[in-house]
Amino acid sequence: MFHHYYVNKLTSGNPNFNHEVHKSSCYYLPSEYNRIYLGYFNSCAEAMQRAKAYYSNVDGCAVCCPECHRQ
Ligand SMILES: [Zn+2]
Repeated sequence: MFHHYYVNKLTSGNPNFNHEVHKSSCYYLPSEYNRIYLGYFNSCAEAMQRAKAYYSNVDGCAVCCPECHRQ
């Protein structure tokens, strides 16, 4: 199922200081100023790949992307 994905510009919102990837529908989606639009993807794995073009330390959100959440 396709979703719009974003990556958080900030790392302060999670205990391991990663840039977290979120779906557009996530409760924890960062505000407009604190997120980068990644694209419309069929899986969080694709969104993670895209996010790695911006940041080396990315992780999936535990709430909306549990299958990509590592830390
Ligand atoms: Zn999320």
